[in-house]
Amino acid sequence: MKTPKERSKQVLRILKKRYPQAGCSLLHADPLELLVATILSAQCTDKRVNEVTKTLFKKYRSAEDYSNADIATFENEIRSTGFFRNKAKSILSMAQALVEDHDGEVPDSMEALVKLPGVGRKTANVVLGNAFGINAGIVVDTHVKRISNRLLFTKNQDPNKIEKDLIELVPKKEWTLWPHLLIHFGREICQARKPKCEDCPLAKLCPSATT
Ligand code: SF4
Repeated sequence: MKTPKERSKQVLRILKKRYPQAGCSLLHADPLELLVATILSAQCTDKRVNEVTKTLFKKYRSAEDYSNADIATFENEIRSTGFFRNKAKSILSMAQALVEDHDGEVPDSMEALVKLPGVGRKTANVVLGNAFGINAGIVVDTHVKRISNRLLFTKNQDPNKIEKDLIELVPKKEWTLWPHLLIHFGREICQARKPKCEDCPLAKLCPSATT
């Protein structure tokens, strides 16, 4: 079997060809909208988040708008995304911090983003990669975690450690695209419960293939 680096190159080539449309599916027009949408997307589908933000983004147009929001009203507006109390608290405190420390603008560095309330490394990576075009790291979600383990690109379960392993394998210019490709692939082929190894375009490269 080839080295993980060689295999990751081939995986990229195959998946880019198969999913040319892969990209951020959270609708947004600027970094603030993507930051809010990403916080809302925890434990919720992107489709549902997009339904909610369609109305939300018309009402709240700046960090100041969010920081002045009435929390009970805001909770109601985002209720259908689940965990709405925590999410409302995170978004309104995050907006407050933007107003107080960043003139209402979303900062474009990992260091500043992860200091915002409710923003972890994963959310920061989503915003940096997809709203600012900065490849600062690799988003590790449930699909990336599962598939990277099956392909033996990592043996870790902790997202931060998985990200470090992937950073060694994936070329920097593809760090933002990588999770989008694996998400498409994970939904279609390498599903959690029953991976379709018999139909998998990566089977020859995969140490976990059952065929
Ligand atoms: S061969 Fe099976 S386990 Fe390996 S990537 Fe394909 S579907 Fe997933």
